[in-house]
Parts: sequence; structure tokens; C-alpha cells
Amino acid sequence: MTKLQQVVSINFPTHWANFHLLAFEAIHTNRQTKTQRLETVLALTLGDIHSSPPLVRIHSQCTTGDVFHSLRCDCHDQLHLALSAIANDGAGILLYEQQEGRGIGLKEKLRAYALQDQGFDTIEANLRLGHPVDSRDYAIPVEVLRSLRIRSLRLMTNNPEKVRAVLSSGIEVVERLSADVPHNPHSAHYLATKRDKLGHLSGFVPGVIPIS
Ligand SMILES: [Zn+2]
Repeated sequence: MTKLQQVVSINFPTHWANFHLLAFEAIHTNRQTKTQRLETVLALTLGDIHSSPPLVRIHSQCTTGDVFHSLRCDCHDQLHLALSAIANDGAGILLYEQQEGRGIGLKEKLRAYALQDQGFDTIEANLRLGHPVDSRDYAIPVEVLRSLRIRSLRLMTNNPEKVRAVLSSGIEVVERLSADVPHNPHSAHYLATKRDKLGHLSGFVPGVIPIS
């Protein structure tokens, strides 16, 4: 990635709390395809994020879930869970980054959905379209955390890759908070695939996950 630049700083009142919104830009290089594009990452910050490890979520953009509340995935509920938890804590950071569809983009994600309608799971669908199972990396969100001078945090995620990305930058993860949300009949198979084939964690008990 190129050098991170902060491009916007505004007050951002929401349903949950009066956040402060910072926007950052950097050129992101897809690690598989080597294609480059300008990425914008939003950081919604609330309260004092420095005197104790703040609650942080790195949320990957999901237009279908975040905007339309699609029941094919759990993104909408996870986004709202995180914003609500940060508001309850009175402090924290929600990072919203643009790697839609585990990094393949909106159109390709919808094509993968079409294959899933024919019976393929989310991983098989990606592979049939010639995409990696998960092409995301978290270099830009982690760099945002560093630019916000975060040295330790509590991470809300079920994705071990996000924990590893934060740790590898030298930021301490003092706790891993579950991002579990209630399943529905439409998302159950997708979530089971993420758990069984991608190693995503599940379970409502917050705790620190072992890091290998
Ligand atoms: Zn989603």
C-alpha cells in the first residue's frame, strides 16, 4: 500500500451515538491479482480511545447486507452489533473498509450468489469463478489503527485473519469479542461454511483466541 492519507474529519451523529468520522485513503494492491485501486477506509471513533484498550471492529463492506439487510449473510447484524457495543462502552472504533465480497467486489459476489443458488457453497462458488476463497488483507485498516496511535485493543471479530493482521502490526489484542449474531434459515449454510471451511470462530462466549 502507499502512504496512508487522512482526507476527511467530521462529526457523525448516528442512531447509536455521536461518532467522529475520519476517512483515510491509500492505494491498495490485491495480493492475489496484484491489481491496484484507491481504497477509502472510514474510522468511526467514539470517546476516549487511548486511556484503556478500546473496542474495535474492522468491518468489510457488504452492500447487500449493510444497505439492504440481506439475510444471505450476517454483515448487517454484525455492523449494528459493533456500533451498539461501542456506544454501550462509550468508546471505540469502527473501521469500515471496502473489500466487498471477501475482496472480489460487488458484481463478482453477486455472480457467486447465483452459483450458490445452484447448490455450490460460498467457497466452491468463488473457485468456479476463478477467485481466491478470501482475497482480503487488512493492511490499510491496521495502518489506520497505527495512525490513531492505538497500541492495544479489544477486537470484535470471528475471523482469525483479522486478529493475526492486528497482532502482526505490533498492536496488542487483549481480548477477542464474539461477533456472533442470530442465524436465520437463509444464512445458516453460509455461516456454517465460514466456520467449517474458513476457520471462522463461533460461540457467544467472549474470550481470547489462541494465536499460533
Ligand atoms: Zn455480507
